Amino acid sequence: MITFLSGGTGTPKLLRGMRTVLPDRELCIVVNTAEDLFISGNHLSPDVDTVMYLFAGILDTETWWGISGDSHISHELANRFGAGEYITIGDQDRAVHIARGALLRGGKRLTECTRLLCERMGVLATVLPMTDDEVATYVSTPEGDIHFQEYWVKYRGKLPALDIYRRCKRHPVATDEVIRALEESDAVVIGPSNPVTSISPILECEGVHSALRDQFVIAVSPFIGDRPVSGPAAELMEAWGSRPDSLGTSLLYQDLLDVFIQDVRDTIPVEGAQRFDTLMVDIDKSIELSRFILELIRK
Ligand code: GDP
Repeated sequence: MITFLSGGTGTPKLLRGMRTVLPDRELCIVVNTAEDLFISGNHLSPDVDTVMYLFAGILDTETWWGISGDSHISHELANRFGAGEYITIGDQDRAVHIARGALLRGGKRLTECTRLLCERMGVLATVLPMTDDEVATYVSTPEGDIHFQEYWVKYRGKLPALDIYRRCKRHPVATDEVIRALEESDAVVIGPSNPVTSISPILECEGVHSALRDQFVIAVSPFIGDRPVSGPAAELMEAWGSRPDSLGTSLLYQDLLDVFIQDVRDTIPVEGAQRFDTLMVDIDKSIELSRFILELIRK
């Protein structure tokens, strides 16, 4: 079993390749939930949904969110009637959010809701939310402090990010399922996801650091030079006081890492890093990177 730490774009791209070289049942994915929110009364868990849909074979891999070919009637009508949804939610996608919201209100843990949804979707990989506790990434901007989804989707990342922090009632605790997966896996792969908004929320969950201490950990950088492949990682790393590049990323994970992989084109060298083409422009590139990672694990 190999366990991955994942957000909703970079690591899922890698997983798309991984699942062609390893059976889904041998893959476990610990997923960031610090972007979760209730919207129009339903529960959106963007990164969990992306990973679930990927393994269910229904993910829209143009955008890396939502269900391929989904319609948007409920979103258009809800907004016409004043719902003010700033996130485009497809009809089938919304059905998942309705079900999960109802299950959560009925007292189920997020981990249980995810297991149930995965079963119903025929997902064979193990998809684990990082925690059952509520936690959200907030960005401080000149307009005030806003949820990361608002920063990225509503304002399209255009507001200056002054600071970034987590909001929670109590410090999130990793679930027993997550700790067991991290400890019992053959290796843990930190995928090329946003270090501030996707990976650090997982690492911050109580129990994760100590579970990883004796584990073989490989990370893939989401940066090439001073730019991420996509998304707001550079601005957010700076707002967080980290270098917005592979070096900054490797420093964030340094006490856990056995191997760090950076792109062959990366002009900012990280000492001791493995180099590979990490730009997953298509599934073939994801498969090549997956094979390279597996070779490093089997060495
Ligand atoms: P989010 O949850 O949608 O923000 O997505 P993630 O955090 O999982 O992934 C976003 C990160 O993926 C960004 O920082 C990108 O630089 C990185 N990324 C996206 N595609 C690739 C790729 O093909 N290669 C690498 N190395 N990183 C990528």
